[in-house]
Amino acid sequence: MQVLELVPKPERELQKEIEKEIDRAILLEKEEEFHVLNEEEKRIEEEKQFNVKIPAPVYYNYISPSKKKELAAGYTFVPSDVQIFRVPQTVLGYNVLGCAFLGTNVVYIRDTLSGDQFEEVKRHEINHISHPWMTESQIRAKTKRELPFEANFH
Ligand SMILES: [Zn+2]
Repeated sequence: MQVLELVPKPERELQKEIEKEIDRAILLEKEEEFHVLNEEEKRIEEEKQFNVKIPAPVYYNYISPSKKKELAAGYTFVPSDVQIFRVPQTVLGYNVLGCAFLGTNVVYIRDTLSGDQFEEVKRHEINHISHPWMTESQIRAKTKRELPFEANFH
């Protein structure tokens, strides 16, 4: 039986990636804000030009990217044939966050993890079970892409 373990990336590398993610999120928010401001300026310009009152558009379904991720985080899926167990560090071993037992479809997740971190490790291990032919780095990339929030360990 093949056992796959997920270990966190080295602290320094992780910190750099978090900073990059934050920079990207800020840039994205700024771009959206700029777009809204730009529309507002165009409207005022047209009002002056044609001497009419144009009602300001209302952005009913505008959701900021960070809010979108937060909303999407409510959805996480576990196939019915996969069993999830939360186990102490002593069982998993030092620096191991989770592991998947291919064949029995059992997943162990460190019992100190909760919220996003728990969901992230769960997604990773379930991906190993659902896609046993994928390499560790393919699983990592796939999991990072699928997460509805910023990855903590990928
Ligand atoms: Zn793995």
